[in-house]
Amino acid sequence: MSDKTGLHLETLAISHGYDPQSGQGAAKPPIYATSTFVYRSAQQAKDIHEQFFDGPDSEGAKRLAGEPEAYIYGRLGHPNLTMVEARLAALDGAEDAAAFNSGMAAISTTLFALVRPGDSIVHSRPFYGGADNLIHNVLTGFGVNAFSFLDGLSEASIQAALDEAAAKGPVSVIWLETPANPTAALVDIALVVRLAKALGERQGRTPIVAVDNTFLGPLLQSPLAEGADLCMTSLTKYCAGHSDLLAGGVSGSAELIKTIKALRTLKGAHLDAQTAWLLLRSFETLPVRTARACDNALKIATYLRAHPKVRGVTYVGFRDEPEAVALLARQCRGTGSTFSVRLKGGEAECFRFLDRLRVLRLAVSLGGTETLICHPATTTHYAVPAADREASGIDDGTLRLSVGLEHPDDLIADLDQALEAV
Ligand SMILES: *Cc1c(COP(=O)(O)O)cnc(C)c1O
Repeated sequence: MSDKTGLHLETLAISHGYDPQSGQGAAKPPIYATSTFVYRSAQQAKDIHEQFFDGPDSEGAKRLAGEPEAYIYGRLGHPNLTMVEARLAALDGAEDAAAFNSGMAAISTTLFALVRPGDSIVHSRPFYGGADNLIHNVLTGFGVNAFSFLDGLSEASIQAALDEAAAKGPVSVIWLETPANPTAALVDIALVVRLAKALGERQGRTPIVAVDNTFLGPLLQSPLAEGADLCMTSLTKYCAGHSDLLAGGVSGSAELIKTIKALRTLKGAHLDAQTAWLLLRSFETLPVRTARACDNALKIATYLRAHPKVRGVTYVGFRDEPEAVALLARQCRGTGSTFSVRLKGGEAECFRFLDRLRVLRLAVSLGGTETLICHPATTTHYAVPAADREASGIDDGTLRLSVGLEHPDDLIADLDQALEAV
């Protein structure tokens, strides 16, 4: 993959968005630890505000032309935020991007910026619990209607959800998560974009198609290239990659990102300078981390699938139906490193196994350098009623793994000794 300038993502990940000349030649970006910015003159202060509020065609913006980017106050924007956003936009192949203090801040700001009372939202299923809660328990309280589909490869299934939703109110956002966890369900993004356009002709307004790209990340999937309007990523996971910070991002057209940033300023949900700096550093190693995690995941999943105490492994790389294989070849450049495994047995067997692990760590979250494992029924999905949980593929014997960067033989040896306890 490469951008308009012909540079590959691996190269853009290293230094895009930072010009050493803007930082007194420092090879790495300074951390701009400041809440406010000092103006050269009263006139410059006026020009900067004019540019911020009236846009690039204003008189103030014309007077500032050719000068370094001007800032007002940290919540509205700051240099480290600009660097992170430039790099994320380049990796996602977007005109612009907005960075937030968590993935949920990115999701909630995006939805509140784009959805109005009376509108309908359609989403793929299963999807991230926080987004589910926000749409079904919060947005519905503001008069928003929510609908979903389960089979993201079936035109009929997606169309049925869109028709049902449009009958209730105009569909303003279609929210997709692909691949989904723990089912490894896939959504054909280009198919959804085509159906959204057709619905747009009928309802007089084209729904915005947004994709949660957290599980694969920018190196393995480019939703905007498939025609989606927005690409959302919990940067907390693979992009930050070390389980030591929270951040979120949304990429898309300059116009949509401007609308989302306007609400971000009011919510105060921007990413701070220190965290933005850490994230810039993390982006540099994202390509090698992604490749290594994917290699490890394939080895671990293959080992687990063959183990006599395992009932099954739900891993994107094992999807073998022709439609799924064709979509993966067209839409994805890898199959990620988060998947689930079902042990023979239930909670007791899982707990005995988990408590014997020495190298794998027992924790929620994913995408870090270390391999994490959790028992969703009693942790991430604790509050979900058992029937709903089972409908989304999680029973008492299900475990979720996020494979990290350790030596795969050590991970397999650890799993092997712990499986003896099952
Ligand atoms: C973690 C996660 C989020 C939320 O991100 P936070 O940074 O934890 O707020 C959203 N979507 C998916 C798929 C996630 O895994």
